[in-house]
Amino acid sequence: MGTEESRKEMDMGTYLLEKMTWPEVEEALKTVELAVLPVGSTEQHGSNTTFDTDTARAREFCRLLAEELPDKVLVGPVIPIGIAFHHMSFPGTLTVQPETLLQYLTDVAWSFKQHGLQKLLFINGHGGNRTVLDLACTKVLHELDMQVGWVGIMTDTAGDVMAEKVDSDIYGHGCEVETSQLLYLHPESVRESALEPAEVQDALYNKKWINMPYRWHEISAGGALGDATKSSYELGQAVTETALKRIVGAIEQQFGVSR
Ligand SMILES: [Zn+2]
Repeated sequence: MGTEESRKEMDMGTYLLEKMTWPEVEEALKTVELAVLPVGSTEQHGSNTTFDTDTARAREFCRLLAEELPDKVLVGPVIPIGIAFHHMSFPGTLTVQPETLLQYLTDVAWSFKQHGLQKLLFINGHGGNRTVLDLACTKVLHELDMQVGWVGIMTDTAGDVMAEKVDSDIYGHGCEVETSQLLYLHPESVRESALEPAEVQDALYNKKWINMPYRWHEISAGGALGDATKSSYELGQAVTETALKRIVGAIEQQFGVSR
């Protein structure tokens, strides 16, 4: 995106921090009520989609969110590396320690607070970040006294739409749904010529009584779930627009921020 384009976006009240200058941010802060931080991951998604899958989905979703709440939201830069130990046996995956991400997210929250922003929402693109996001929100509330929360943009907020429309038996990673969401949000990350159905070894991996951590290659040797060949722009649109509508509603209800 060129500077003129980002200038236009800003004039519409879509505030993306990394595309702004400080005088522009100072002006925007007169109306902005909520800081939003996309949190991604750099990890394998089978042969179907590239390493920026979760990062690009989180970032592009936040752009749509900012468009829905003009002048009210300031979107920070995406955090590109999350918790992905369970994918480390696949070449290229990067991870940080839970303690590192926890401290990092807390530090960014503290920074927003220095500029007068008391409300913060983490938008999560990667399931492996969930437990750390819970902890980060606990720290940010009790140590920084900010109003804070996190939400996911697929299963967490549009699980019912997925259950209704998805054809694959098992999904959730590098799958029909995630590939579809990318076709809608960031098609550059989809390797259309390499889409393939997954061979899943343990379809019940997350449906057992006792919660146990796992290694992804033991669940799916190829690294993905479901059948990405069935992905579509339309499914991605249905999942994303549902999640977006619900999250905008929740921001109004839980943060008291509306258009
Ligand atoms: Zn993913």
